[in-house]
Amino acid sequence: MTPLANAILRQIRAQGPITVAEYMTLCLLHPEHGYYTQRDPLGVDGDFTTAPEISQMFGEILGIGLAQAWLDQGEPTRFTLAELGPGRGTLMADLMRATARLPGFAAAAEMHLIEASPALRAAQADRLAQYAPRWHEHVEALPDQPLFLIANEFFDALPIRQFLRQGDAWAERMICEQDGKLAFGLSPPAPLAALAHRLEDTDEGQMVETCAPAIPIIESISARIARHGGLAWIIDYGDWRSRGDTLQALRAHRPADPLDTPGAADLTAHVDFEAIARAAHPLRATRLTPQGVVLERLGITARAQSLAHGLAGSALDSHIAAHRRLTHPQEMGQLFKMLGLTRDDAPTPPGFDA
Ligand code: SAH
Repeated sequence: MTPLANAILRQIRAQGPITVAEYMTLCLLHPEHGYYTQRDPLGVDGDFTTAPEISQMFGEILGIGLAQAWLDQGEPTRFTLAELGPGRGTLMADLMRATARLPGFAAAAEMHLIEASPALRAAQADRLAQYAPRWHEHVEALPDQPLFLIANEFFDALPIRQFLRQGDAWAERMICEQDGKLAFGLSPPAPLAALAHRLEDTDEGQMVETCAPAIPIIESISARIARHGGLAWIIDYGDWRSRGDTLQALRAHRPADPLDTPGAADLTAHVDFEAIARAAHPLRATRLTPQGVVLERLGITARAQSLAHGLAGSALDSHIAAHRRLTHPQEMGQLFKMLGLTRDDAPTPPGFDA
């Protein structure tokens, strides 16, 4: 049993069952035993790999797209270049390198990073020192000026609550104690105004998820873009509407039981992009588009070919595999989706349909 499992069991004995959201928050961000608090979980030696860690092309191509949006919006001479949950800082480093020769872009960009993990802040500081980034706990601290923002695999780490439909009411999935171990249970069903619209598209016994912390984050970002212009790009696994139980744990690149090793496995849930698009009002949301499609439209294949010229043998093989992994529908290309948020009067962001 992990130290955090003991702490959570003690809490449940004293104060009763906790929601899935409370459980996720403790697992990921507990000040002493939280998953993200202490470690760098990314890469082959860690628990999972993300697109920026698979290939430099991911950050380069998104950087070129973002810089194009900056040009399309009249090259604001001062803007916030922000990332939510920047991991090791790899995406941002690749983005800055790919845009370095675009006149005015780097000079106009003020880098701001939203990061909760002290361990990952240290990795970002190493990687991005030359750009003098500033760190914040929350998006409310971002300056009031044009905002160009990227969030890759950030929203999937935010805590969700799960509800099971019973009649026209909802029973919340809780974490409780059973035979000295953590187990799932259900609260008594109650009607829920926030889920009224889900009575239309669900049946008895189906589960839906909500992610309350995502809403104020999107509202705060959207207010800045509505006032001053810019773009938010959200990339994650998920779909337009949440459906079913998507809570998942990953440990050493393998699926694990979410209740087995709290604090020692990554916990995520699919992102409900409809909820994000709604919270972004009055911004315009692009069509929700598969990652592979956007990367292709932004020119990843040409970039892959030019990088391939300098490679041979196993380096070439792994480069080709990385391109496939990022774009192919059977790999990350279809599972991961991209949503762009802009002002209604801004040009459609590069890579998306009008
Ligand atoms: N974007 C990176 C890392 C993804 S992992 C990549 O693609 O490689 C999730 C990131 O979000 C980590 O940096 C993690 O520490 C951060 N994070 C998770 N929950 C957070 C929260 N509530 N506030 C701020 N950062 C958070």
